[in-house]
Amino acid sequence: MTEPVIEARGLTRRFGELTAVDALDLSVAPQTIYGFLGPNGCGKTTTVRMLTGLLTPSAGEVTVLGHALPRDAERLKRQIGYMTQRFSLYDDLSVSENLRFVAEIYGLGRRAARRRIDALLATYALEPMRHRRAGQMSGGQRQRLALAAATLHSPSLLFLDEPTSAVDPENRRDFWERLFDLVEGGATILVSTHYMDEAERCHRLAIMERGHKRADGSPAELMAAMGARVVEVEGRDLRRLKPQITRLPEVISAAQLGSRLRVLVRDRVADPVAWLQAQALDPSPTRLTQVRPSLEDVFVTSTGRRIEASADDGREGRTGSGPGSSGPKGSGLTGSSPGGSSSGGCGPDGSSPDGSGSSKNDHAGNGKPSTLASATPAVRDD
Ligand code: ATP
Repeated sequence: MTEPVIEARGLTRRFGELTAVDALDLSVAPQTIYGFLGPNGCGKTTTVRMLTGLLTPSAGEVTVLGHALPRDAERLKRQIGYMTQRFSLYDDLSVSENLRFVAEIYGLGRRAARRRIDALLATYALEPMRHRRAGQMSGGQRQRLALAAATLHSPSLLFLDEPTSAVDPENRRDFWERLFDLVEGGATILVSTHYMDEAERCHRLAIMERGHKRADGSPAELMAAMGARVVEVEGRDLRRLKPQITRLPEVISAAQLGSRLRVLVRDRVADPVAWLQAQALDPSPTRLTQVRPSLEDVFVTSTGRRIEASADDGREGRTGSGPGSSGPKGSGLTGSSPGGSSSGGCGPDGSSPDGSGSSKNDHAGNGKPSTLASATPAVRDD
């Protein structure tokens, strides 16, 4: 079997009283994209910083590309690329000057640097703007330049910390195509995100909450094993219907998405549509449809919490977090996932319900990228 590129056991980081990352076990296979999904403040950046050798763990063992950390951190740094949340670009330098600067850091000779930079400018569609200052570029262009800079020395392992926070959906799609090209070329990528659609693209992912890994697997595995079935409920007066549904014993959570309620029902209920129809609800729903689970549903069932409530919850303050604040950094997790509906279709036939949590929560699943979590008021009805 191929050796994992990253292997961590009991990885922990404390900041004073706060345990930002708690006993994390992690194994990342070569030539895969491994996602770290979780709301603001759950420990994603702290984990990435420990895995890149930039931050010393408080406890635990970690080996990256065969280097034991933190002992071999210096040797590791030459073999990895790291794209931080705020791209490390110099606004006053042009595109090619930024890349030349990085080439110098990595000690590329002048001719090798020129060849490599020309190739990157072509790959990342930056050639027409090679003389433009980084500070004058759009979010998507800056992102491509940051990726070019992070891969300039052809690292076999790439860390991307929320790389698409500042770009629109089209640029995000384009960016992910480039990530798959890199994997095709032999790279392994660890990417942190709070976008559900990005998480669904990963080969494998960990769901993080308050420093803990709550789930680990491929998106399909996680959805199959989540221990719940998803029903969308349509009808009149959903605001009145919702608390009645939330109070039902087999219901894990209900969240309003436009003119529907998305309801998670424990999977010991074999036919959740019939079960909901048999409940005395007032007004009666006009339509019940079982739909495909999303990763956001997985988050709710594996943490027992609403995602907005998880963002920065109980942690050291960060400005701009929580519902109502604007922009990705304030939005906890951000929904998406296609969640195609098929009446009575695809309930997970999966394994045991795991710690579905005793509290019932709103959750936002299956919405549109970028706005859902921040736009959904954090209201508990029960
Ligand atoms: P985001 O998505 O907002 O970037 P994150 O999941 O990357 O969040 P981290 O940046 O890893 O979260 O932070 C985890 C927790 O550790 C937060 O409560 C944060 O305030 C805290 N933290 C991070 N770095 C430090 C530090 N240097 N000193 C003290 N606390 C820190």
